[in-house]
Amino acid sequence: MKLPLVVPPLIALALAAPALADEVNVYSLRQPELIQPLLDSFTAETGIAVNIAFVDKGMVERLVAEGSRSPADLVLTVDIARLAQVVEAGVTQPVTSAVLEANIPAEFRDPGKQWFGLTSRARIVYASRERVADGEVTTYEDLADPKWQGRICTRPGTHDYNLGLMAAMILHHGEAAARDWAAGLKANLAKKPEGSDRAQVKSIWAGECDISLGNTYYMGEMLADPEQAEWAGSVRIVYPAFEDGGTHVNVSGVAMTKAAPNRAAALKLMEFLSSDEAQEIYAGLNHEFPVKPGVARSDLVESWGAFRPDTVNLMELAGRRPAALRLMEEVNFDG
Ligand code: FE
Repeated sequence: MKLPLVVPPLIALALAAPALADEVNVYSLRQPELIQPLLDSFTAETGIAVNIAFVDKGMVERLVAEGSRSPADLVLTVDIARLAQVVEAGVTQPVTSAVLEANIPAEFRDPGKQWFGLTSRARIVYASRERVADGEVTTYEDLADPKWQGRICTRPGTHDYNLGLMAAMILHHGEAAARDWAAGLKANLAKKPEGSDRAQVKSIWAGECDISLGNTYYMGEMLADPEQAEWAGSVRIVYPAFEDGGTHVNVSGVAMTKAAPNRAAALKLMEFLSSDEAQEIYAGLNHEFPVKPGVARSDLVESWGAFRPDTVNLMELAGRRPAALRLMEEVNFDG
C-alpha cells in the first residue's frame, strides 16, 4: 500500500542529509491542510519526512485489514470514542515516553499508554445573541426543562459528540436520569436532529431555534468562512456545566499502530506534537485548547472566555458509550 507522498521541503537536501531516509506514515481523520504546516516544521527540524493519508471513514477496518503489513505508523483522530475503538481493535501498541508523560497531563492520556491526547475541545451551547439572555443557560441538565420547548437544535443524538456528552450525563447521574434527560431534551427540540454542529447555528441564525449544542472549534471554522461567518455572528458561546461538575470536554489524539514500520521516527513525531511549539500551532490551527499546561490558547479561543472543565475520566467516558447509544435509541432521539 502506497501512501500519497507529500514531498518535504528539505527533499532537495536529501543527498547531503542521509537522515532524510527516515519517514513517518500517518493515517489522519484530521484534514491534512490543518496539520501540514506543523508537519513541515517537524521535517525541517528533524529531517524526517511525514507522509499523511486522510482517512475519513473506516479507519479501524482499514488498519485491521492491513494487519501487520500496514504502512501506517500513527493514527490521528478525534473523540475519545474513536481513539478507544482503534485501541479495542487491537491495532495499536503502548508507547513509553518520558517526554509524552511530562507534556501531557494524566487525564489526557491512556493509563495503558495506547493513546495520547493532543488537543481538547468543549461541547458547549451556541446561544442566539438576540433571543437568549445572559445567564439564561447554565447547566446541561437545564436543557431538558420544558422552558426550552421548541427552542433547541442539535445534530443527531447518536453522533459521537452527543454520545460523549450523554456518557458524561450517565457518569454524573446514572442511566435512568440520563434517559429522562435525553427524553426531555428531545421534547424541547425545534426540529428533527439532522446535520452538523454548524448547521444548527445556521438554524439559530435563520430563527428556527434559539440555542444549539456544538463543539467550541466550530466557532473558529465558521468565522473563517465568508458565508458561515454571518451564522457565527448571530450566536455567542456559553459554557454550560454539569450541576455537580464542569463543562464537557473531549480530545483529539494520537496512537501508534502495532505494525508501525518506522517506530523511532513515529515516536519523535508524537513527542514533537506534545511540545510547546507544536501544541500552540496545532491547537491554534484547529481552534482547540492545547493539552500541555502553560501553552497559550489562540487569541480567538481565548476570547471565548474561561471555563471549568468537567472532571469525568475519559476512559470511563469511552466505557459508557455503549450505554449512551442504547439510551439514545430507547428514547428514539433521532426519530
Ligand atoms: Fe468536529
